[in-house]
Amino acid sequence: MEKEKKTFQFKTEVKQFMNLIINSLYSHPEIFLRELISNASDAIDRLKFKAQTDPEILGSDTEYKIKITPDKKNRTLTVSDNGIGMTYDEIIDNIGTIARSGTAAFLEAVEKSKNQGALVPELIGQFGVGFYSAFIVAEKVTVVTRAAGQDNAYRWESTGDGSYTVEPAQRRSRGTDVILTLKPVQPDDQDFTEEWTIRHIIKTHSDFVSYPIVMDVEREEAEVGGKESKLLDKDGKPVAAQKKRVVREETLNSMKAIWAKDKKEVSEEEYKDFYTHISHDWNPPLSHLHFKMEGVTEYSALLYIPSTAPFDLFFPERKHGIALYCRRIFIMDDCKELIPEYLRFIKGVVDAPDLNLNISREILQQDALVRNIRKNLVLKIIDHLEHLAPQEYEKFYNEFGAVLKEGIHSDPVNREKLAELCRFKTTKSEGKWVSLKDYVANLPSEQKEIYYITGDTLSTIANSPHLETLRDKGFDVLLMTDPVDEFVIQALREYGGKKLVSAEKGELDIQKPDADKKKAYSALFEKITAHLQDRVKEVKPSSHLKESVACLSGDTYDLSAYMEKLLKASGQKPPRNKRILELNIAHPVIEKMQKIFEKDNDTEELKAYSELLFDLALVAEGGKIENPARFSKTVGELMARAMA
Ligand code: ADP
Repeated sequence: MEKEKKTFQFKTEVKQFMNLIINSLYSHPEIFLRELISNASDAIDRLKFKAQTDPEILGSDTEYKIKITPDKKNRTLTVSDNGIGMTYDEIIDNIGTIARSGTAAFLEAVEKSKNQGALVPELIGQFGVGFYSAFIVAEKVTVVTRAAGQDNAYRWESTGDGSYTVEPAQRRSRGTDVILTLKPVQPDDQDFTEEWTIRHIIKTHSDFVSYPIVMDVEREEAEVGGKESKLLDKDGKPVAAQKKRVVREETLNSMKAIWAKDKKEVSEEEYKDFYTHISHDWNPPLSHLHFKMEGVTEYSALLYIPSTAPFDLFFPERKHGIALYCRRIFIMDDCKELIPEYLRFIKGVVDAPDLNLNISREILQQDALVRNIRKNLVLKIIDHLEHLAPQEYEKFYNEFGAVLKEGIHSDPVNREKLAELCRFKTTKSEGKWVSLKDYVANLPSEQKEIYYITGDTLSTIANSPHLETLRDKGFDVLLMTDPVDEFVIQALREYGGKKLVSAEKGELDIQKPDADKKKAYSALFEKITAHLQDRVKEVKPSSHLKESVACLSGDTYDLSAYMEKLLKASGQKPPRNKRILELNIAHPVIEKMQKIFEKDNDTEELKAYSELLFDLALVAEGGKIENPARFSKTVGELMARAMA
């Protein structure tokens, strides 16, 4: 046993490191408490682990806790634990050198970023900085520690100026006290001996640490006496109110790291409460998944699917819902790296023990562990969705389907699985959602392709004249009303061996217009094209129309009308896309126009009808006509004539 006080020098890298964090973390000094609590919690973890093979070391002290003791008068703050403690050699090995490989990596990152300017404070703020962060707030740090199963205790002490001392000390039982002699507080500084400051820091950074973090709190308690009191003084009057000051040990953290527990140990109520706690959503979640991965990529996750979509689901600046923890220590909120955009509605917690707090947002993206977790989470979530009961899944899809579909475009690896999860309304589904699998299985045998139509409301597209021929043949058409559907189509291209074909673009192969009539009307069509030349690129006989006289369409590779509208709405200028005016050559109107044309091929009447055909086609697809007054006037005149 060492009997004397000895002085040691810090290793050079420790000095470097200390200077760096003291100079860089001045804007986040409270980080030190998170770090010391994290060390204390690790020390208890390690004790429990060791006790599995050597239960003797526990003795009677099995009420694990971390105690915070502020001392306003002496301006000290002590963090104590009854964890594993340190032997003499361990103190020297662990404190005063840099044992952690993470710290070395961190120093390297800092070294690199130094050359690039003022990145350091940002970088360091995201890192776990460990024990030495105590020197951000303390002018002297004293550690009194006694290792489990040992009789001797030691005091380590340093003012952070390059050397430290170690000497024998007294400690009643196993564990460690880290005593900070705080620097004087400046007027605008946080006072770390203040109860509410401590409470706040612990709630923010260490709420889910799985051992109680306690503090003695002095309160005025229940009055003795007062008006209502039955206590009477010697004159028979009620005894005057007296307040008692009592000190109680209070637990400051909720400890509810339920993700770290076994599924069987968590009640439905606890799952619900935890969801409310992390999401601030008062509706109960639709469903949750809770699991632990072991092996190379180790992590546990507790994830929730909310029951209703938040209002900001489609806002670009919206936060993601996953918080990242490392051994129950909070690392960051809103961890976008853990989950793709198209699953941004998922809320919950991921705890990756191997992250060791040494991670910054910048590094997170390149971290192989994080990438593996992300890959794995996606599979887990997809699997979970696949197994939801149909009714639940429908609820989910109504809320989040439009977001999930983004994955078909953005996640080629899981495209097929996501396509299976998609649901669509169709011309035959009577307002119900159907999967692509069911859609394809129920197609009439003559329908060789998957037809779709896009637009912003179901009623406009369901009644679109483009669908007349298809409906007449008994074909089923997907009705797509989400903006993202345009991207879904581009990415998917086919399903179940059937090509996706637009019902509004290009020719339908299934019904060609009558060739003789086509020829007979060609001069008329040229004339109409000339009248509408600034708006349409072509006027042609339609393969789509059955009852209506006109519709607008595009070439197969043109933007759809809806896509054009979307681009305009998002402030972009799509290439001005002249449309094709399709006319139904079996319709009496065209026959009559042909007669007018044959009489005189250059009348105002013909021009007005050409305009009207274009406007009718535009109205049918829910578009805006350029001159509604003219439209209304022409229709009025026609009605008057028809009724005469
Ligand atoms: P880290 O905790 O990331 O390893 P630190 O610099 O915070 O790095 O601490 C260095 C080492 O000191 C720890 O690994 C641990 O062995 C020891 N240590 C720190 N605090 C305690 C404590 N409260 N109880 C026991 N050991 C501790």
